Amino acid sequence: MNWPSWLPIRQDLRSLSPYGAPQVPAQAFLNTNENPYSPSAKLQIAITTAVSEISSQLNRYPDRDAERLRSKLAAYINDSNSTRFTHNNLWVANGSNEVIQSIFLAFGHGKALGFSPSYSMHSLIARVSNTVWIDGNRNSDFSLNVAEAISQIEINKPTLTFITTPNNPTGGAVAIVDIAKIADAVKAVSGLLIIDEAYAEFSEQTSAVTLIPDCPHVVVIRTMSKAFAFAGARVGYLVADHKVIDAMLIVRLPYHLSSITQAVAEVALDFKEELLAGVDAIIESRNKMITALTGLGLTTIDSDANFILFAGFAQDATQLWSDLLKKGVLIRDVGVSGYLRVTIGNEAENDLFISALKELI
Ligand SMILES: *Cc1c(COP(=O)(O)O)cnc(C)c1O
Repeated sequence: MNWPSWLPIRQDLRSLSPYGAPQVPAQAFLNTNENPYSPSAKLQIAITTAVSEISSQLNRYPDRDAERLRSKLAAYINDSNSTRFTHNNLWVANGSNEVIQSIFLAFGHGKALGFSPSYSMHSLIARVSNTVWIDGNRNSDFSLNVAEAISQIEINKPTLTFITTPNNPTGGAVAIVDIAKIADAVKAVSGLLIIDEAYAEFSEQTSAVTLIPDCPHVVVIRTMSKAFAFAGARVGYLVADHKVIDAMLIVRLPYHLSSITQAVAEVALDFKEELLAGVDAIIESRNKMITALTGLGLTTIDSDANFILFAGFAQDATQLWSDLLKKGVLIRDVGVSGYLRVTIGNEAENDLFISALKELI
């Protein structure tokens, strides 16, 4: 970026660019890992009713600590993991990106470690919050090298270590036994292990929330943006020891989560069976998509998420990305050389993607 000399922007921000995928017109939006299924008519009515009920009280501030919503999120986590968390183990904010930012505000001193390629917002928020970011590597097949990760933790003694599982943009999950080993290493250096489980509902792996009762150094980030098909509402949360939540209360802005957001998130949780049924459909489409891609002679990275990283095309990734866009299909160039990432869409979107790809490679 070119900053004018009169603008007293921080020196360490001068070289950064804003995060974001291109928002351009297309027929198939397969670029940001959104859920392709819009809320059902029944859910839309329930949301509208909840917003209408809250509208008469919009002169009042919301519940500052979103306690009812946090209790509902705790119940959702407990249901699927046989855990016994309460609202004191949950923190909720405007998308999990805000949760990540709060983590850095509270704990972002010293160093933070992650393993690339992974979710680039972790390192970007680290830099914005003035925390040294260390980029650890993965194996060449993008799986996490557990021994290497542990040795990086021992050497660097990071305050924060990030693991995204299933990983974005590569799709693979880390086994819970490996997460437990890494958690031990993090505990030994008195850090926190932040497990970003944005895609957990698409995976069979045991959630790292099960480690929290025995290891308070583990913090799990979740979102309603993907499996819950609720990206537009902006609801993300974390599950952690209650002392971590106490730290979140220090750094959060007062009334950060609007009454409207709290109300509609509660409605979405009431519809969890219906919403999570969409997850099964997406997993089925993911498997079909892998068959279609390999049928075209492409290679895919095993995915536990709602997207696939693929390679094996002759042209440059950037070239294929823009050729697909010309045919109405928007996917993601994630900056991994030779690879592109496609989000699983609805049937029509997936078909359009595969037929466009067939003509291009
Ligand atoms: C999509 C995504 C998020 C979600 O962000 P929200 O702010 O909750 O929409 C977080 N982490 C990862 C790894 C993601 O891919």
